Amino acid sequence: MLHNDQLSQWDRENFFHPSTHLAQHARGETATRIIRTASGCHIEDREGNKLLDAFAGLYCVNVGYGRQEIAEAIADQARELAYYHAYVGHGTEASVTLSKMILDRAPDHMSKVYFGLGGSDANETNVKLIWYYNNILGRPEKKKIISRWRGYHGSGLVTGSLTGLELFHKKFDLPLAQVIHTDAPYYFRRTDAAQSEDQFVAQCVASLEELIAREGADTIAAFIGEPVLGTGGIVPPPAGYWDAIQAVLRKHDILLVADEVVTGFGRLGTMFGSTHYGMTPDIITIAKGLTSAYAPLSGSIVSDKIWKVLEQGTDENGPIGHGWTYSAHPIGAAAGVANLKLLDDLNLISNAGSVGAYLNQTMQEALGDHPHVGEIRGEGMLCAVEFVKDRDSRTFFDANDKIGPQIAAALLAQGVIGRAMPQGDILGFAPPFCLTKAEADEVVAKTVTAVNTVF
Ligand code: PLP
Repeated sequence: MLHNDQLSQWDRENFFHPSTHLAQHARGETATRIIRTASGCHIEDREGNKLLDAFAGLYCVNVGYGRQEIAEAIADQARELAYYHAYVGHGTEASVTLSKMILDRAPDHMSKVYFGLGGSDANETNVKLIWYYNNILGRPEKKKIISRWRGYHGSGLVTGSLTGLELFHKKFDLPLAQVIHTDAPYYFRRTDAAQSEDQFVAQCVASLEELIAREGADTIAAFIGEPVLGTGGIVPPPAGYWDAIQAVLRKHDILLVADEVVTGFGRLGTMFGSTHYGMTPDIITIAKGLTSAYAPLSGSIVSDKIWKVLEQGTDENGPIGHGWTYSAHPIGAAAGVANLKLLDDLNLISNAGSVGAYLNQTMQEALGDHPHVGEIRGEGMLCAVEFVKDRDSRTFFDANDKIGPQIAAALLAQGVIGRAMPQGDILGFAPPFCLTKAEADEVVAKTVTAVNTVF
């Protein structure tokens, strides 16, 4: 077996890591951590350190690690047929079955699923389909996409533009001109502390209306949003937000894309976040939870309304010029079928709802009154703790204070992984759905210790 020092050296010499401070890593200021195996909610590194992964990788290993049913489905598929493409009507038993399983679970007005590999390329597909749709409808000027500050939709050219986080724009010449941003539904960070939730929602609506009036509704094609903001800080919307936003979109004939890469397939305790919040999207983006990350696979689920226009488009223009070599990859599809079966068989979505509520409630009881905790919020198996300099005066930390990373490090030192969200002052949790109440207790108790270590 290779020595860890050797791996660490090769890593620094050869491996370009995503979302990483490259210079610090090259200088050895961040560790190379080689994960060797995993089971349930725990991962294990090469030194035998066992860590409770309370972020399910990147909120994706929803059914938990080490599921033999999925591993076997992948192995069987690889032995029988590792690859064939999906162009011009080709498929495999797994890809066709999975498309049916997805549509069976999706809201009734959805029609078809286009398969990709990850959330970014699925959102890239969505934007292309929306542009195609408006061109076929004879309104080529209706192309801009509205996204929200703090939204996360990927890191490609269009999807990095849709993402409303400065880090993903800075020095990349993003956002592209066709993407415009509106307010995040982030009630805790409202500028006017006296504002009620209803007033805040009305303000979000007014600023969306202003943006639409400024740009012209006839130039705006779609609005994209995560049912619950994820990477932007795990922020559930205030009551009534989605109803109010959808009313505006309908009025201006603007499509709605629900980016359910995190919320799809159960993270909120319901199959989709859209239905949880009464959204009626025209397109739903799915990825992570579709296979629980056992293999890369994503999808764009399109509604009947979109599908009819796409069909008309190909009658007029020939085959749709959009395809990936790995669309509906058989191994990803086999993983998806096995994963969705497991979610049903083990009742894991219901567990996500009940243990997620328990995690949020115990976190609230343990830390809700802490002078440096501004808010504890969550929905289903998502929970965030936001730290503040001063609770009463609502004075916030700066990203440079690195409070989130310090607390995440103190938590890791006790064997639990939480995620310091990119804002620097939020600690996020998104455990696998199989988390037990005892494991939730451990996460909370060790978070309390971590917080008390840092403050
Ligand atoms: N959309 C959302 C809501 C996400 O959270 C992510 C990734 O975290 C993406 C899209 C991008 O997915 P991927 O990293 O698979 O490209």
